[in-house]
Amino acid sequence: MSKVLLIIGIALGVYWLWRQGRMAEAREARASKPAAPATARSSAAQAPQDMVACAHCGLHLPRSEALADGPGGSAPFYCSPAHRQSGRQA
Ligand SMILES: [Zn+2]
Repeated sequence: MSKVLLIIGIALGVYWLWRQGRMAEAREARASKPAAPATARSSAAQAPQDMVACAHCGLHLPRSEALADGPGGSAPFYCSPAHRQSGRQA
């Protein structure tokens, strides 16, 4: 009977040590967690994006938001339809 109690005690001790380790891990993960998503978010926001200048006013804007004058990646870009019209006339 005392052997069983000893085994149970050892099992409880091992379980307690394991829990302490897990709790420490969780604490570390929680402490480092706020920084991880923040860096992920900022790196996503700072993801390299092609910037182009409006050929009319020189405003820089992402290529995805710019209006290209004609096909091709090297076509002049404009910030607005009005500037595209003025750019064409000029
Ligand atoms: Zn413009």
